[in-house]
Amino acid sequence: MKPRDLSAHVEYQAGRGIEEVARELGVDSDELVKLASNENPFGPSPAAVRAMKRAAERANSYPKASHADLVDRLAERWSVASEQVWLANGGDGALDYLARAMLEPGDDVLVPDPGFAYYGMSARYHHGDVREYDLSKADDFALAADTVLSAYDGERIVYLTSPHNPTGGRFSVDAVEDVADATADETLVVVDEAYGEYADAPSAVELLDARDDVAVLRTFSKAYGLAGVRLGYALVPEEWADAYARVNTPFAASELACRAGLAALDDDEHVRRSVETVRWAREYLRTELDAPTWESHANFVLVEVGDATGVAADLRERGVIVRDCTSFGLPDCVRVTCGTEEETRTAVRELNEVLAE
Ligand SMILES: *Cc1c(COP(=O)(O)O)cnc(C)c1O
Repeated sequence: MKPRDLSAHVEYQAGRGIEEVARELGVDSDELVKLASNENPFGPSPAAVRAMKRAAERANSYPKASHADLVDRLAERWSVASEQVWLANGGDGALDYLARAMLEPGDDVLVPDPGFAYYGMSARYHHGDVREYDLSKADDFALAADTVLSAYDGERIVYLTSPHNPTGGRFSVDAVEDVADATADETLVVVDEAYGEYADAPSAVELLDARDDVAVLRTFSKAYGLAGVRLGYALVPEEWADAYARVNTPFAASELACRAGLAALDDDEHVRRSVETVRWAREYLRTELDAPTWESHANFVLVEVGDATGVAADLRERGVIVRDCTSFGLPDCVRVTCGTEEETRTAVRELNEVLAE
């Protein structure tokens, strides 16, 4: 036997793990500076780590109370009803729930190019077809309503990433509203705010009060440093929030994830320190790198280096791992995640030396 026709599906290419690269270079992973996957260099909140250790003792039970408590806590945080919080196994899991709730076979979705690969993958899993809107490098990857609307042709879901991965740009809330206004009543605008904590700008969540065609994605993977536990959520309009009960995998987030999330939400100091360091690091990267960069509202900076694959390989030899953006369709760019102060300084020094060679 064989699976269904998956020829239109693409494989997700995650950045290589630090252990993998360390083994290949024959060095200890502690000697490497990994700035390839937009992870939080400070790790998780210590309070979240303690909460997970305690939760491990209760891992025989389904996470009923913790799931409900986290949903209530997030509802309070965003001033929405608990039903409007769709908890999931990472932000990626929440993207799946939105596709499951929206797409009929053959429906189209509209995704950014360059952009986050999982939007299209998720749509295809749910029997949707994928169309793209282009962000133009000549236009510094500008994110305006027209960028999206000039390509829009009645798609069921339109994905906006704000701040955008891999460029770092963002949509204003007004631009999001313009897209939602100009698209059909039955088009859902998904605003992916995976990097929202790093942007000095309001969330599109405020639009949910008045409209039923915008959903917002958030995650614990980035500013909260919990990428390894897989915890994210969508915030959806009240009108159709009850669809969650019909599309979610039972207990979408684990006991450990829920307890970690609850503890992390109470650790303001950890998030504040993470965000502050990112603000310093992206400024440092932009001013000190001897290469063109783009303004970033996220925890990374896109850098034009010429031969991205060659430069990323040379940097890896020097113990610094960055993301080669060839798979994003940008073969002349690398994406450098903001590290600790020391990691960021090392990355700049090494990258400048590679560029000078
Ligand atoms: C990291 C990321 C996500 C969410 O990742 P999860 O780890 O699944 O929460 C979503 N969108 C973008 C653009 C991202 O970079």
